Amino acid sequence: MIPVQGLTGAKVAVLGLGRSGLAAARALAAGGAVPVCWDDNPAAREAAEAEGFACLDLKKAGAFEDVARLIVSPGIPHLYPAPNPVVVAALAEGVPVDNDIGLFFQSFASAEWSEFDTAPRVIAVTGSNGKSTTSALIHHILEHVGRPCQLAGNIGRGVLDIDPAVDGEVVVLELSSYQTDLARNLTPDVAVFTNLSPDHLDRHHGMGGYFAAKRRLFAEGGPDRAVIGVDEVEGRFLAGQLSEGPTDDRVIRVSAAGKLTGPGWNVFARKGFLAEMRKGKQIASIDLRSVAGLPGAHNHQNACAAYAACRSLGLAPKVIEAAFHTFGGLPHRSQTIAEVDGVRFVNDSKATNVDSAAKALAAFKNIRWICGGLEKEGGLEGLTEGQANVRKAYVIGREAAGFAMQLQVEAEVCGTMAQAVASAVRDAEAGDVVLLAPAAASFDQYDSFERRGDDFIAQVQAVTGV
Ligand code: ADP
Repeated sequence: MIPVQGLTGAKVAVLGLGRSGLAAARALAAGGAVPVCWDDNPAAREAAEAEGFACLDLKKAGAFEDVARLIVSPGIPHLYPAPNPVVVAALAEGVPVDNDIGLFFQSFASAEWSEFDTAPRVIAVTGSNGKSTTSALIHHILEHVGRPCQLAGNIGRGVLDIDPAVDGEVVVLELSSYQTDLARNLTPDVAVFTNLSPDHLDRHHGMGGYFAAKRRLFAEGGPDRAVIGVDEVEGRFLAGQLSEGPTDDRVIRVSAAGKLTGPGWNVFARKGFLAEMRKGKQIASIDLRSVAGLPGAHNHQNACAAYAACRSLGLAPKVIEAAFHTFGGLPHRSQTIAEVDGVRFVNDSKATNVDSAAKALAAFKNIRWICGGLEKEGGLEGLTEGQANVRKAYVIGREAAGFAMQLQVEAEVCGTMAQAVASAVRDAEAGDVVLLAPAAASFDQYDSFERRGDDFIAQVQAVTGV
């Protein structure tokens, strides 16, 4: 755990008592602060009380008297579509609002560090898609070279749950836009921006607010090195704003869409090969086509981002290449779960938005596509191109019929995963890929995308017997 520094003796309100809220309460208490907790869910309050934390309805008048700060969980709106009433109350009383990420950056460095040979460093990864894969890949490469490292944030442990750093340690953080939007301290040593496409627009009041939230990771602390995906205009703008000039190598530009020709530090993937260029000269090249754990152009983008982050720590290209080959990929992301009679089954349940689903559709051919669920704002535009690789769609979800109507390919309204898998297996021929890439959230039928992916795996096992 990272005990929170700078709030000793202070009363700190904690709103939301899920994983990150409880961890924040513990870390605050460990640092000598006095947490006052609240969650609208009585079961969550009971769990906090069982650990000895005081709970108080923060909506009540006077609840913010003598409170130094309010810590808010990422699932609770702090601004859009409307701030939670507790946030409104805190702001009315002039109490600063923060989150566990802000507390982490304020508390991570300790006096012990002055005795270390190599100061610990933080690599923080944000972007619309590929954050988990990129973060896990960086962590895997660091483990491969034997560097002490921990993975936290949206993936792995909560940030305040990690162990205090040892000499030379690297902490890899995956950060969502909700987290970067609110944190009062954001000072990673290396910051990574994978890409940008519409998501969570209700929480950020549109695309501008969404980009602004992610941009804070680069603007608040000024990282030593910024790795920026430049395949969208926002990434190109960000890279331009952060660099002093074309050759400023504090910015490493990354692309999976084509060759980068600028004179700075560039890493790009083209035709399955990663290339690193610096001042116009090629430094390294890696064949990504044979890297089983990173299939498709979208994963090549993740490989480039992870490569650049590790290069900025001084790791050699050959070592990074070797580590790529032992990366197993993450569950529910382009995960091959079985191959039966020439039919490959791929679980990409994490494709909860249109962009990630489009990337999955582009990565395979002859697809039997299981899709549908709780549709995101913005409709299914953006899926048009990828559908060329689809032989037939099998639509799940409560609104399956409406979803199916929007597709350009032959679509069977299945409703349930069991039916979708059964129909896809019935139709599949050798060479086909049965792909779960829903392009929608899972909450109409499941608690999470993980449960949806698990159900897919279970149904595939039931039908194929593998
Ligand atoms: P995040 O943590 O940002 O949600 P993940 O690595 O969990 O990212 O991947 C989320 C989804 O997006 C998965 O369906 C995955 O296959 C897809 N994906 C992964 N990397 C990228 C990328 N660079 N661009 C677009 N889609 C991606």
